[in-house]
Order: sequence, then C-alpha cells, then structure tokens
Amino acid sequence: MATIELENIVKRFGSATVVHGLDLAIADGEFVALVGPSGCGKSTTLRMIAGLEDVSAGTLRIGGVVVNHHEPKRRNVAMVFQNYAIYPHLTVRENIAFGLYTSGLPKEKKAARVDEAARILGLEDLLERRPAALSGGQRQRVAIGRAMVRNPSAFLFDEPLSNLDAQLRNQMRIEIKRLHQRIGATTVYVTHDQVEAMTMADRIVVMRDGRILQIGSPSDLYDAPADVFTARFIGTPA
Ligand code: ADP
Ligand code: MG
Repeated sequence: MATIELENIVKRFGSATVVHGLDLAIADGEFVALVGPSGCGKSTTLRMIAGLEDVSAGTLRIGGVVVNHHEPKRRNVAMVFQNYAIYPHLTVRENIAFGLYTSGLPKEKKAARVDEAARILGLEDLLERRPAALSGGQRQRVAIGRAMVRNPSAFLFDEPLSNLDAQLRNQMRIEIKRLHQRIGATTVYVTHDQVEAMTMADRIVVMRDGRILQIGSPSDLYDAPADVFTARFIGTPA
C-alpha cells in the first residue's frame, strides 16, 4: 500500500498538452474516483501513474519515492482495464497466476497467492475453467485476481465496468468496494458513471480539459458542486 502524489504533472503528446499541471495527493488506502468527460485526460493520468506513459513535467511519487523514471514493474501498481485482458486458452488458475509470471517467487508461494486471491474473489470453484465458461463478472474478477496476486501497492482501474450490463455493474461495484475494504489498497478508479463515483469513492476528483476542476468527498460535491458541469455529473438538483 502506498500514497500517490502528483505534483504539477504535465503530459504533452507532440505539441498538444493534454494534462496541465495536476496536483493531487492520495492517501495510503484511500479510494479516489477520477471523473470527467471523454478526452479530459483520465486514462492518460492513470497511465502516467502506472508508468505506461512518461510524465512530460512534474513529480510523481508512489510511497514517497519519486518514480518518474521507474519502469512500470518497479512501481508495482496494478492496472485493471475495461477490456479485461484475460487469455482464452488459459484456465482461471493460469490466468491469475500469470500476474506472477515475472515475479521470481517460488512455485508454492505463487500457488498460495493464487489460492488466496481466488478465495477473496469467490473464484475457488472456477479455477480449472476457461474464460469461455465464465460470466462477464467472473471474467472481470479473474482480471482483478491477476492484478491482486502481485500484492500491488495500489490499484488503478480504468472504467472497469463499462462493458458490463447494469445488474452486473451493480454487483461488481459492491465487490470491488468490498475488496478495497478487505485489503485496503490505495485505489484510483476512473469512471464516467456518477453512481460508481458517489457510492465507492472516499474522494472524487473532477477533471476537465486536462485540469482538476474540483476535489471533494461525494457529499462535498453534492452539496457544493464547483460548476454546472459537476452539478450535472453528480446529479445535484438545480
Ligand atoms: P479520457 O480517458 O479522459 O477519455 P485520455 O486520457 O484518453 O482521456 O485522452 C486525453 C487526451 O489525450 C485526448 O485528447 C486524447 O486524444 C489525447 N491522447 C491520449 N493518448 C494519446 C496518444 N498516445 N497520442 C496523442 N494523443 C493522445
Ligand atoms: Mg479513458
């Protein structure tokens, strides 16, 4: 588990600046939702934290350590995407264990980690199945399991539920929240679903055009949205 600190983080793609000096300090164990319209820089921000994109300027710290130039692996943050990238030819057990592929852990340790993740995620009875024989929610849990076995210092979710139907979304929302309560890992959760943000997050960060518009608890944002955009997103009565 770890704090995540963004200090004046800038991202440029060629001549276009898409993230304009973000300042954000996420506490150890905190669940932060990142919301805002399509193209405002949410995924880019997550990818910079994960080390999948370089930071153009500013300082990024994880667990108090400057990680601007650390490889993704060294940062030990787990990223879960909406298109759960699990392998159709591997069983659930093998898919989860894949998260430890480069870990160098001894075999028994790996097996124990896989079993523990499967237990927490309720996948114990499905370990020998292949993805084709799983529901969408179960597949998403496998993807989370693969992230979990690495004991990441933080979880980064990029709209993980947007491909699921409404009922499954409800269920997974509860499951991810429960998982967070159980393991207490620092979580940054990108979503464009206000219900997810309002019900899951300790704090919500509202972004627009590569800038932070407002940061607050769900009730802060509900009671005092900074502008019409936030009010609309949160659903504050006008
Ligand atoms: P969001 O996740 O909030 O929808 P993104 O972070 O994906 O937004 O994108 C923010 C902006 O950066 C968009 O204008 C997008 O087109 C641009 N962008 C994202 N990735 C790249 C890239 N690899 N090259 C150029 N522009 C990019
Ligand atoms: Mg995105």
